[in-house]
Amino acid sequence: MGHLIPVLELSKRLVTHHDFTVTVFVVSCHMSLAESHVIQSSMSPKLFDIVQLPPVDISHLVDANATVVTQIAVIMREAIPAIRSAICSMNFRPTALIVDLFGTESLPIAEELGLLKYVYVPSNAWFLALTVLVPFLDREVEGEYVDQTEPLRIPGCRAVRPEDVVDPMLDRTNQQYFEYVRIGKEIPTSDGVLLNIWEELQPLTLAAFRDETLLGRFSKSPVYPIGPLTRQLSGSRSELFDWLDKQPRESVIFVSFGSGGTLSYEQMTELAWGLEMSQHRFIWVVRPPTRTAADDAFFTAGTASSGDDPSTYLPAGFLTRTKNKGLLVPIWAPQVEVLSHPSVGGFLSHCGWNSTLESVANGVPMIVWPLYSEQRMNATLLEEELGVAVRPKVLPSKKVVGREEIEETVRQIMEDKEGKNEIRARVKELKYSAEKALSKGGSSYTALSRLAQQIEISKQRPTGTEGY
Ligand code: UDP
Repeated sequence: MGHLIPVLELSKRLVTHHDFTVTVFVVSCHMSLAESHVIQSSMSPKLFDIVQLPPVDISHLVDANATVVTQIAVIMREAIPAIRSAICSMNFRPTALIVDLFGTESLPIAEELGLLKYVYVPSNAWFLALTVLVPFLDREVEGEYVDQTEPLRIPGCRAVRPEDVVDPMLDRTNQQYFEYVRIGKEIPTSDGVLLNIWEELQPLTLAAFRDETLLGRFSKSPVYPIGPLTRQLSGSRSELFDWLDKQPRESVIFVSFGSGGTLSYEQMTELAWGLEMSQHRFIWVVRPPTRTAADDAFFTAGTASSGDDPSTYLPAGFLTRTKNKGLLVPIWAPQVEVLSHPSVGGFLSHCGWNSTLESVANGVPMIVWPLYSEQRMNATLLEEELGVAVRPKVLPSKKVVGREEIEETVRQIMEDKEGKNEIRARVKELKYSAEKALSKGGSSYTALSRLAQQIEISKQRPTGTEGY
């Protein structure tokens, strides 16, 4: 979801603001209900074509314990012939191929066919910096990254603490690490990298990419900060909104862990108690607990039965005691609509990048609860650099966030005596800066226009590959 949604939003922008003709190729092994729904809703009105490539079967290629990153990398590799033939059978010659972060192995198709080639990284500039640096770290750093005693230095931007590295860097013998290093090498072969951020969010890191003595040494591809591109409101209403309409302004905390996040039974118990003890109103998107990593949940999110009864895994009496304060939503909620509702005043999030942007774009401060992928870096960025979030501390002895800590962080985010909550004030400033960036003449609007111009200019150049 974190990749599909921003690709669809970028496509809409390219059509509506720059008059492009866009075709989106969707690669998958199977499509969840939630994914089909997102695709369908992006089709009204129909602005671009979506071509669903034949589902890829990787069951014989990866073992059952392979991580999400490995599975996606293998799916994308297996799909290359289908992508190539789908491009070749289009009834006009496209000018540019934009691939997602996981699609960099398809960039040679663009070279072969004489197309411009871009990578859309649906995350932030600090993550991109680590990704293009990892092939160099791979040569220089000995031992596991998580065992380093010093932070990993990145020229021109914040160092990465060993415990914050992205999931693929947790184990250097795992296939997902090799896939990640490969992606880090392939990104700089592109004609440009699109980022779902805006210039004013990470000016120093973006400046480091433009400086050949800093990050520009590692990737010369121009970086285009074109965001925040978040899903538009659908206008659909459910009972959830009848309840939200009745709550005071900014009084409800929304709790959700993205499209794949799940918690252990023990952690869910602490979270339930913490929410109850805070005495604040909440909406909680609940999924049955798991004892394993989020990977397990990822490919089934959106397909799980919404009939799972939360009373079987939440503390006894929780539902009755909180019935006037809280609302549980099984499996999936209309997140963008919830975050934009005036009654919502906080977001306890796994800080996937889309969730982060949706929160900031609505001026909602966050409690950051990273689970997987690059989310530990996102959490550090949000709390320590942007100052729009608090991060609860994990009890080292138990490896869970305790109920008192949850109660305390909820209060920190939600209580705003006389408008003195600095975190709330900062996220509102960022919201306005994002709006400005996207408006005509703003930094993101201009960055996408520059990209569009580059594509236009290339359209007029003969490539010698006509008629492939
Ligand atoms: N989402 C949603 N309802 C849910 C959970 C997730 O609409 O109950 C959407 C959310 O708004 C976001 C995307 O799914 O746009 C999740 O992307 P993100 O990058 O935050 O995290 P990921 O799920 O990829 O880890």
